[in-house]
Amino acid sequence: MNPAFVIERKREGAALTADEIAAFIGGYARGEVPDYQMSALAMAIFFRGMTAQETTELTRQMLRSGETLGWPNDGVIRADKHSTGGIGDKVSLILAPLLACCGLQVPMISGRGLGPTGGTLDKLEAIPGFRTDLSAAELQDVCQRVGCVITGTTPELAPADRRLYALRDVTGTVPSIPLITGSILSKKLAAGLDALVMDVKWGTGAFMREYDAACALAQSLVAVGGRLGLKTTALVTDMNQPLGRMAGHTVEVIESVETLKGHGPRDLVEVTLALGAELLHSTRMADTRAAGSAALEAAIADGRGLQKYREMVRAQGGDPEAALPIASETIVLAPRDGYVTAIETAELGRAVTLLGGGRQKVGDAIDHTVGLEMLVRLGDSVRRQQPLVKVFAWERGRDEALAKIRGAITMGDAPIEPPKLIVERIEPAEA
Ligand code: URA
Repeated sequence: MNPAFVIERKREGAALTADEIAAFIGGYARGEVPDYQMSALAMAIFFRGMTAQETTELTRQMLRSGETLGWPNDGVIRADKHSTGGIGDKVSLILAPLLACCGLQVPMISGRGLGPTGGTLDKLEAIPGFRTDLSAAELQDVCQRVGCVITGTTPELAPADRRLYALRDVTGTVPSIPLITGSILSKKLAAGLDALVMDVKWGTGAFMREYDAACALAQSLVAVGGRLGLKTTALVTDMNQPLGRMAGHTVEVIESVETLKGHGPRDLVEVTLALGAELLHSTRMADTRAAGSAALEAAIADGRGLQKYREMVRAQGGDPEAALPIASETIVLAPRDGYVTAIETAELGRAVTLLGGGRQKVGDAIDHTVGLEMLVRLGDSVRRQQPLVKVFAWERGRDEALAKIRGAITMGDAPIEPPKLIVERIEPAEA
């Protein structure tokens, strides 16, 4: 295989053969194809796209660059939920323990925040002692003992994705549906899952700002997951405002615990139950999605979910009873009477980053104590001087962050219809 020839073929819009993709990605994984040629191919894929067959082959080869977790043949079903990310998205912290209470094992491999969206690992590290760097053996041990685990990826799982993602990050090739599909699914397949539900977010706080692009990504993930033997369904959900009230790290851990105690905000509970119900139904742990949702609700109501969460935190070295400090409060007030008509949600994430709660570049330290609480939602009628947002901040970046938050919330004279929370459900074509 001549890598330059493969790049040229994709540049001209040809569909690459399975052999070409195997040779190119295999060569990249072995260090034989250099970064500059991989970057050029990524850019050609960005512009020309890939067919479902090509994306499947790309994903397969990325998976083959590393190991796959082997699980005992014990009849237990391993499943996971993965979100494309958004502001205030803390569903993983709540859903992993709830699914474990309903009989699934959940080996959840999560990521860190970069840019405006927070990462699940960063949120969990707000808990003193919590380890997110488990080895593959530790991951499997906690998952089998407790029923759920949330940790970072390990060097053995889909190593080609780690290198390719870093390259995409600096070459403007992140927002490509085939590349995102290959990246997410290679890691999920490497975890040895039986089933996956994807939460594909769309809107002002999402990776995919356009609804149609989010649907196309969801279709791609479901189709390619299915072709590679991973039962995958997807929900396309709203990210035109933060999910739940809290955005940050410590404040999101607190909101997750409150949700497991039965006091969660309506939107967060609705998305969590819908995603969990998808998995319980697709794995046949529940006859219907309604039954799946009811099982999850029961695990909240009788405290099993909270108990399971605490068990997981302890198993990963954390102290679930530890006091969690939060920065000082400042209130952003409404400048006028009117309706909340638009929220530039990513700007709220950037405001949290300015306060020290996010990274400008990989490896930056994070202040877990800062964040914000939304006191209004899209469509709400508000009066002048009414509190809109509670901001948890120290001196660092406060004035700039407050200005950003004020600028992110648009007020109008006419009421609007609040956006639909769960917009689309995508399942495999043959289902
Ligand atoms: N998340 C991933 O893991 N990979 C991508 O390419 C985008 C989001």
